[in-house]
Amino acid sequence: MRKISANYIFTGNTTPIRNGIVVLNDDGVVLDVLNTSDKEQHSQEFYNGIIVPGFVNTHCHIELSHLKNHIPAGCGMVDFIRGVIASANEFTLEEKKDKVKFADDLMYARGISVVGDVSNKSVSFEQKKQSKIKYHTFVEALGSKREFADKIYSDSVHLVDILKQYNLAGNIVPHSTYSLSPELLSTICERFKADEIFSVHNQESGTENDMFLFGKGDMMDFVRMINPEYSEWTPPGISSSNYLLEFIPNNVKTLLVHNTEVTQEDVNNITKSIGNNDNLFWVLCPKSNMYIHNKIVDYKLFKSGNICLGTDSLASNNDLSILSEMKMLHKMNPEIELTEMIKWATYNGARALNVDKEFGTISKGKKPGINLISNVDLASFTLRDDSFVKRLL
Ligand SMILES: [Zn+2]
Repeated sequence: MRKISANYIFTGNTTPIRNGIVVLNDDGVVLDVLNTSDKEQHSQEFYNGIIVPGFVNTHCHIELSHLKNHIPAGCGMVDFIRGVIASANEFTLEEKKDKVKFADDLMYARGISVVGDVSNKSVSFEQKKQSKIKYHTFVEALGSKREFADKIYSDSVHLVDILKQYNLAGNIVPHSTYSLSPELLSTICERFKADEIFSVHNQESGTENDMFLFGKGDMMDFVRMINPEYSEWTPPGISSSNYLLEFIPNNVKTLLVHNTEVTQEDVNNITKSIGNNDNLFWVLCPKSNMYIHNKIVDYKLFKSGNICLGTDSLASNNDLSILSEMKMLHKMNPEIELTEMIKWATYNGARALNVDKEFGTISKGKKPGINLISNVDLASFTLRDDSFVKRLL
């Protein structure tokens, strides 16, 4: 049994407990959370800083870990995609697997307990199987050529079968609105099951909206270059997310990722269309947005909904740390309450990935992982540049 205490315990979904004590069994299962000012309890570990549950990273592409420092920062969406495609054959399978392991170890050390990870291939599955992190794999389908929709879908089904052989959780999702034919997007959405989790890159760049609203811009040019069918395409004249709403499956957990170019009107339409707020999660990846677009997402648009945090991949981030994402958001928006932001990083993510029975909060019966964040300004409850996380359990 371990009794862990610190200046404050942030459970993930309650107000911070000053000098609280977390009691855990030898397997790391929380037996109790005590609200006491008695620091001297027998056999208790006391730390300076705050205790938080293991983090939930709701958006990553661990299979792109070999691309760290490979694509120049500030390149914009289309050149970023070009960079990922161009590098496809530059690395061996072994090199890629080594970097997957590096990234998995890195996330665990950074206090991440659960990851929603996007995969186009099976290169990461072996590592996920033996990882201390719990993964939900989003098998990502993409392809804008109509005639290939069935083939792409069946390749994705095959990948899910491999995932199941590894006894790993996951399901098929679309990459984005701009990279799938309507046929492929319909096929995925129509066959979506009630217990699956929908996740899609949403309005990550302005050029995505330019394509759907006006049929022009860098993304439109890029899609036309890849697929000449689009030279005949008439844009629907609506935002990318309004287009998505025509397909999106009903009554499933839905994670909209990035949202850098979402407007209030988009938020209203999406919220209304999804209906049940418990099913709608806004995943923000501030450091990746900064890396690719030099822009930070406006979190205020999603304040009344469920915000989650993601690192995206090492192709567009120098670290895989949810604390670093929080620090960037906090630096740009000092008014965000730390309690609220920790909820985004833990409790909301666990609900989004359907693992809140075990993860996301420090509460009886769960095994969320226990992190210590040091160098927090405890007077104002703000993160500092030198705040860092250490996994205690
Ligand atoms: Zn992504």
